[in-house]
Amino acid sequence: MDEFSRILIVDDERYNIKVLTDLLREDHKIMAAKTGEQALNAAQGPNPPDLILLDIMMPGLDGYEVCKRLKADNLTAHIPVIFVTALDASDDEAKGFEIGAVDYITKPFNPVIVKARVRTHIQLKRKTDLLDRMALLDGLTGIPNRRNFDVTLEKEISRSARSKSFLSLILMDIDFFKKYNDHYGHVAGDSCLRQVAKAVEGVKKRDSDFAARYGGEEFAMILPGADMKGAMQLAEDVRCAVAALNIQHTTSDVAEYVSLSLGVATILPDQKMSPVDLIKAADKSLYQAKANGRNCVINSFSQIKK
Ligand code: GH3
Ligand code: MG
Ligand code: MG
Repeated sequence: MDEFSRILIVDDERYNIKVLTDLLREDHKIMAAKTGEQALNAAQGPNPPDLILLDIMMPGLDGYEVCKRLKADNLTAHIPVIFVTALDASDDEAKGFEIGAVDYITKPFNPVIVKARVRTHIQLKRKTDLLDRMALLDGLTGIPNRRNFDVTLEKEISRSARSKSFLSLILMDIDFFKKYNDHYGHVAGDSCLRQVAKAVEGVKKRDSDFAARYGGEEFAMILPGADMKGAMQLAEDVRCAVAALNIQHTTSDVAEYVSLSLGVATILPDQKMSPVDLIKAADKSLYQAKANGRNCVINSFSQIKK
């Protein structure tokens, strides 16, 4: 389980890095930094460590300062830090815990104890990561959930405002799904939702396109950089992809298969715009799609300003 975990060893003494590396490299991938600055860069980089072993006394940024900065940055705050230090006064240890370290090991250390503590914290980190990921996924369909959608939309609105680029949102709702459940049963309904979720996900074009289960039988797609034309096209692709599943729905009033109604909203966000405004606009379009007979896509091009 531990073989892919990455440990960053930070120490200004090459010898100390070597000792810890020799001790841990059998079970972990080791990264090393000789200064506080290097440590921060490594932690903020594309392959962040799962655990940091941090010396305290270093020229330049000392270990306390590095730990403080790691904990103040959203990107690195979740990485557990263990101080490994010659400072053995209990005040030093208390200070280490106060600024967010998970453990404190004094030099000279006992190799067996270091290995055991590292293993414990790596296992905890793995479990926390798993819980964090699960908390953002919908249990039934496995695609991102509403909470994930809310966080992502907020983020994308700020990003679009900064880059002054379009942002589109598609809200979609399965047609006559209550009748589907009534006729085929709830288990079949669940299976239908899973298939629709997979089809919606499958239509994403760019890495930044984001699909989520928005509610019961409602799904959503956030499309950064997509103008109205692009978003309408994607919405139509989603509608066709779900129709192509050809899930029989004999009690639907609009088609013989499970179909979707979709509402699209496109905006050029400004800094003051709230996600609620964009959702309202897409919801209005969705309402119109339902009113217009369902199994169709409607948009309302809007530049919402507060
Ligand atoms: P409309 O075309 O106007 O959208 O009609 P509708 O029947 O789809 O809409 P309504 O809101 O009346 O019903 C939605 C149904 O979706 C009712 C609810 O039981 C079902 N539903 C919501 N979540 C789940 C779920 O997790 N599993 C199953 N099987 N059904 C669900
Ligand atoms: Mg609904
Ligand atoms: Mg519905």
